[in-house]
Amino acid sequence: MLKDKYSILFEPVKIGPVTARNRFYQVPHCTGMGHVRPQAEAAMRAIKAEGGWAVVSNQETEIHPSSDMSPYAESRLWDARDIPALRLMTNAIHAKGSLAAIELAHNGNHATNLYTRAPSLAPSDIAADYIAPKQARAMDKADIREFRCWHRMAARRAREAGFDIVYVYAGHHMSLPHHFLLPSTNDRMDEYGGSLENRVRLTRELIEETKEEVGDTCAVAFRFAVDEMAGADGMQAAEEGRAVVELLADLPDLWDVNVSDWSNDSATTRFQPEDGYQTPYIEFVKQVTKKPVVAVGRLTSPDMMLSMVKRGIVDFIGAARPSIADPFLPQKIQEGRIDEIRECIGCNICVASDNLSVPIRCTQNPTMGEEWRRGWHPEKIEPKGRQEDALIIGAGPAGLECAMQLAKRGYNVTLAEAGKAPGGRVLSEAGLYGLRAWKRVADHRVYDLQQRANARMFMQSGLDAEAVIELNIPNVFVATGARWRRDGVGRSSRQPIDIDKDMQVLTPDDILAGIVPATGPVLIYDDDQIYLGGVLAEHLNELGHDVILATPASVVSPWTEHTLEQSRIQKSLINRGVLLKTSQKLTGANKAGGVLSCVFTEQEQTLNCGAVVLVTERIRQTALYDDLKARNDAGKINLTTLKLIGDAATPGLIADAVFNGHMAARHFEKDPMIADQEFFRREMVELPAEDMAGMNPKTA
Ligand code: ADP
Ligand code: SF4
Repeated sequence: MLKDKYSILFEPVKIGPVTARNRFYQVPHCTGMGHVRPQAEAAMRAIKAEGGWAVVSNQETEIHPSSDMSPYAESRLWDARDIPALRLMTNAIHAKGSLAAIELAHNGNHATNLYTRAPSLAPSDIAADYIAPKQARAMDKADIREFRCWHRMAARRAREAGFDIVYVYAGHHMSLPHHFLLPSTNDRMDEYGGSLENRVRLTRELIEETKEEVGDTCAVAFRFAVDEMAGADGMQAAEEGRAVVELLADLPDLWDVNVSDWSNDSATTRFQPEDGYQTPYIEFVKQVTKKPVVAVGRLTSPDMMLSMVKRGIVDFIGAARPSIADPFLPQKIQEGRIDEIRECIGCNICVASDNLSVPIRCTQNPTMGEEWRRGWHPEKIEPKGRQEDALIIGAGPAGLECAMQLAKRGYNVTLAEAGKAPGGRVLSEAGLYGLRAWKRVADHRVYDLQQRANARMFMQSGLDAEAVIELNIPNVFVATGARWRRDGVGRSSRQPIDIDKDMQVLTPDDILAGIVPATGPVLIYDDDQIYLGGVLAEHLNELGHDVILATPASVVSPWTEHTLEQSRIQKSLINRGVLLKTSQKLTGANKAGGVLSCVFTEQEQTLNCGAVVLVTERIRQTALYDDLKARNDAGKINLTTLKLIGDAATPGLIADAVFNGHMAARHFEKDPMIADQEFFRREMVELPAEDMAGMNPKTA
């Protein structure tokens, strides 16, 4: 039996005084919800527990006003008034039979204390980690004593809030214990600086004191980044990383090990294509400690998980992103439903939402972050209403998701796609250098639809209005996508760019379709400034083209700062010899080449090139929808439902298209007034009763 093969993953494991029911461990991860949206946080974590994660952690939890991460929405436990919000989460996790873990954090110079205006603290005088007009001050002995006391008190409050596992956190360059451990941030001359024993001292004290405070009932975990992935310029697993584990070996009840900084720990598939990429760094840990070890590295393959446990590399399968993409991953493995796992694609859209301080979202899992406010469940959807049949036109991410969810609801689903294979932009973008894993978005949905007797997919079936009418299906969802503009209109120019007819002009759609520049060099003009311009530059360079990337932005692909990729992209392009022209608008192209104008001075330069790729804006493909709507409005046809979804409705990320397709399926046959009223629940600031007098939230 397939499920027996993985039975080792479902053995209970003891962690100090508590026992996890299996080996699936959701390590701490941020959500953009935290103390600002505690009900949403609790509901989301509860879904993970329901899906079989034996340990469900929260995220970094500020223990004191001098660790104020505003405007980021992390967890907060400054004093007892923060306990009830966290207890929501622990109760919800316990109700589903899992253990709740809390990552206590003092963020040192990573916290700029914008809300509290408290001084920032660090082992040594040092600038704020974020670009902010502020420096952290070196902690004196009294500060260190106070900090230890704050940590101890926070542990006490954590237990009161119902947590079973309490973390000491030294990772991601984001916490004081880590700042003390690293020579780059600790140049102290006292017993907390200098030798490794001295730099470890604070961590040791924190672990000991946390154990003393709550260790009889709670496990004390230590989260530690064993390697900074900076070679000899940083802490290395083979040297000081290992020495730290040796020094503290059996002191914590659990080792949660990873690499730092966050961009290394949460590396995207674009730069770390292999799942399990952290294993070479962390595999020594279990040889040094007798305590259980958890590690991550985008672990989505059950066979890899099995092998990691069998080879004695880990005791727990750690996951943040795989648990976001599929909160029911453990349950699916346990029930032998491996093919149903929604694998993380390593795109870091989840990370971007935290960086933007909005509730978490996920490309693969459109219900992520919507558990409380919209009541969405990743595995459950309301059964169908009175209608029987639905036609979805376009099998991109929006069409595929909509079709899959409608089929789950029980409708007879017909999915028509003009292309040879399903996937739309996901399929084509996955063909670009570094984005192969993105195909999983299509694979998951296509597989699901193939299993359903009530779903039919037709490829090479480009429909026009006549063909739709002929099919005689009264409910039509149009997911025909969007195409990149060929005229250069975009953020920086609302007028077409003046390009000589002899210059070859290509769009991203052309490159995605396999058309390449006839002569070089090729000038990619990225006025989109999200990710695609940079990907195309790498892709064409990989194919051997001489590439120039020009953008009005001051860095390449600026939006990818949110996905922790920007500096990697720029580094990769520089190393590849791609000529970068930042802060430049493309104003024209002629025989001599592309004409660039400095966004600040308007000083012009002409760069020799043989082709121009315009990455500016997209045009929604609505011709079919418009035609059907006009006929329906005129009473010539009688469609019960006609809905435009995905990029054809609002061009955005793949995550947005999936979400939009999902929402359309959920809202199908729902009274639009009710759907509108239920748009989503909000977590409101509670005002004193007298200020709310006379307000009825239902009618106001
Ligand atoms: P989205 O991101 O909204 O899902 P995509 O651009 O990825 O949009 O996908 C749109 C899909 O719709 C493409 O695969 C395209 O081939 C298909 N398509 C566009 N027009 C038609 C049509 N008239 N009939 C069938 N399929 C269509
Ligand atoms: Fe994985 Fe992307 Fe979802 Fe994050 S958003 S969990 S990286 S699929």
